[in-house]
Amino acid sequence: MQLIDSFGREIHSLRVSVTDRCNFRCTYCMPPEGIELLPRAHFLTYEQMTRLVGILARLGVRKVRLTGGEPLLRKDLAELVAMLRPLPGIEDISLTTNGYHLTEYAQALWDAGLRRINVSLDSLDKAHFHAVTRVDAFDRVWQGIEAAIATGFRVKLNAVALKETPMDDMVAFAGLAKSRGIETRFIEFMPLCGQGWEPDKVLPIAMVREAVGRAFRLDPDEIARGSSVAETYRVEGGGRVGFIGSLTEPFCEHCDRVRLGVDGRLQLCLFRDESLELRPFLEHHAPDEEIINYLMSGVKLKAAGHGFRWDDPRNQSRPNIRSIGG
Ligand code: SAM
Ligand code: SF4
Repeated sequence: MQLIDSFGREIHSLRVSVTDRCNFRCTYCMPPEGIELLPRAHFLTYEQMTRLVGILARLGVRKVRLTGGEPLLRKDLAELVAMLRPLPGIEDISLTTNGYHLTEYAQALWDAGLRRINVSLDSLDKAHFHAVTRVDAFDRVWQGIEAAIATGFRVKLNAVALKETPMDDMVAFAGLAKSRGIETRFIEFMPLCGQGWEPDKVLPIAMVREAVGRAFRLDPDEIARGSSVAETYRVEGGGRVGFIGSLTEPFCEHCDRVRLGVDGRLQLCLFRDESLELRPFLEHHAPDEEIINYLMSGVKLKAAGHGFRWDDPRNQSRPNIRSIGG
């Protein structure tokens, strides 16, 4: 059995949000204060998450990324990794984190079977990092990255490209690809942060690619992009960089992903409202077949594309990426 939407796209990737809480306040993600949080009583348990991932794996999901909020605020996250790893069909489990608690948990996550981690790091400049995350923690995050690499993880960096970030800062990441072999993926600023989003703040991903390409020769990656959100390039002298242009270079046609919120809502697209409420099925101990039937028909609601428009008034009020699972 395979989850397949109305446009023939097969669903193979799942993002699982394990919390909507975060210890950072990145300017592009949330306001400094006044954040509405889900009641903890609405959180799925790890057993419930594992059951749903197991069912989705029966329907063709192969890759799971744990995210949030900040997933490493869950002290026992390694337990969830250990629960997901043996599920038949799941081939790849990864984590996206701000890296603040990585030094503490790298070994436990490795022992649980995790092998890939993406760390969000928007600047290699400490002051700019502080300004963007609103937390003075560059050194600590960098230590976390080093600890993860030393443990054996394949580590990539995520950097949101903002107009306010000096281009030299972004170019420096390509230098890191060359000197350390660490891949950075530049992400276009999306309207998933409420009032803080303005069209003028978006730095089109092509401009980042051009700036990096002026400093380093970039050759398109020979690895087929497939359903990957990033368009990757080999950096002259070693390493890779990736570019994710959700707004100006959308990749919806090849989308193979859905997102499970910590409250059990399966979101079919980051930018759209269509979602499937799975928590009631879990609370009523519905049999797997009932959930499978709901998923197989519900996935047909997945829209052809995100339908983003620059002048859409909803850009200021879309659900936060933190609550959907980034
Ligand atoms: N807290 C973790 C972290 O920061 O890596 C995981 C959750 S975070 C929501 C997941 C990813 O979404 C991060 O790489 C972050 O940079 C990105 N992100 C958050 N808000 C964004 C926005 N408005 N536009 C583009 N990317 C965003
Ligand atoms: Fe927290 Fe990640 Fe959002 Fe930054 S991007 S505020 S680290 S959830």
